[in-house]
Amino acid sequence: MAPVPSGNRPPVLAFVHSPTLVTLAGLLAALVTSVLYAVWYFNKNIPGLRLWMLSFLSASVFCASLLVRDYVPEWVSVMLTQSTIAAAAYLCFLGSRAYLGREHPPHAVAVAVIVAVMALAVYFTVVHPHMGIRFALAGFVAGVYFLLTAHTLARGGFHNVPVRYLFAMVSGLHGIFLLVRPLLFRLVAPGTVEDADAGMVALLSQFVVLEATLSLVLMAFGALMLTNEHITRELRHLAEVDPLTNVFNRRAFLTLLEKAISNAQRTQSGLPVLVIDLDHFKKINDTWGHQSGDEVLRHFVALANGCLRKEDVMGRLGGEEFAIFLPNASTEGSQAVAERLRALVAHHPAMTGCGPIALTVSIGVTQYGGGETSDLVLQRADEAMYRAKEQGRNRVETLSPPGTGVGVLLV
Ligand code: GH3
Ligand code: MG
Ligand code: MG
Repeated sequence: MAPVPSGNRPPVLAFVHSPTLVTLAGLLAALVTSVLYAVWYFNKNIPGLRLWMLSFLSASVFCASLLVRDYVPEWVSVMLTQSTIAAAAYLCFLGSRAYLGREHPPHAVAVAVIVAVMALAVYFTVVHPHMGIRFALAGFVAGVYFLLTAHTLARGGFHNVPVRYLFAMVSGLHGIFLLVRPLLFRLVAPGTVEDADAGMVALLSQFVVLEATLSLVLMAFGALMLTNEHITRELRHLAEVDPLTNVFNRRAFLTLLEKAISNAQRTQSGLPVLVIDLDHFKKINDTWGHQSGDEVLRHFVALANGCLRKEDVMGRLGGEEFAIFLPNASTEGSQAVAERLRALVAHHPAMTGCGPIALTVSIGVTQYGGGETSDLVLQRADEAMYRAKEQGRNRVETLSPPGTGVGVLLV
């Protein structure tokens, strides 16, 4: 197809995009899209990944539309470039919101903005040709959405997920660059297009494409790193959390208890440990069925969570036996928590599919004594719990560390 005569297109446009650089950027965008598609195909549950993949697809179409601009009517090429760059940025923003589990804003707003920008771009192409305004329009919408992407990721917090830095930083810097880009062109070409220093404009144009390519590659890295982080987090969750009750499993609980013990040892602070066992749970299973038994276990955990502070840690040691440690809690505090939990459970039957099921718990309480292992502390709390069973169940019994006298807890 023969190139469409450039008509009223300003001559400086000839320098705006080096076909080699744009082709390279387009190939990279297509490659990144394919990689993200493959990763998404095998991990469809990763939030945001599909939207990021579509964002890179849009960027690939954007590059393609720059390459064919001499072969299609100018208004068509303008509409294509304006819509694809805006869509790429908007999809990137949507991906970051989905990744963080946030609702997306109404699509109608973005659609209205993009349509308005396209209409304005066509107006400044056909009715009142002005390349500068078109250029500023294209950068404006995309710039704002890339900045919003950075803002969304920053609000999600970097503390636990440092890999978010890369994506947030690159999209933020790219967004700022898109917004100030027209000013840079204004600086190198302050007068009319004909007066502009063609060499400087060409240099700046190439820098624009290079910056976009670099941002594209870094954002692709960012998306893949966040994907990897999500998979790692999911695997860790599966390895540490009991699927039925959603509290730590025995192994994870013991690891956390060891850490809490060394902390208590270092700071000479108290570390009460509770072991809780549901009373006559076998009878509940036998009477109401295993599924109702499961519901009772979940009901117990919900009640227990309501009694605990944010820093308290609960784990399922196995079957219907749970443990809790309460960092920095006083002896009286831990006994009060145990008593409150016991009473709460006794007064709140589980509302299961088979009707209300009453339950009680026996609780053993102890305190970490300096230099002890986690096994030893748990063993003593377990012993205290068995005393509660022996003494009639539905009660709290305490055992102090050796040398402090039975029934007297260390503070
Ligand atoms: P005690 O008051 O002495 O603790 O009596 P118990 O019946 O609670 O204790 P026992 O050890 O005899 O029975 C525990 C039961 O817990 C037996 C087992 O089938 C049941 N169990 C263990 N894990 C699960 C589970 O995940 N779901 C359900 N529904 N039951 C479980
Ligand atoms: Mg039991
Ligand atoms: Mg038991």
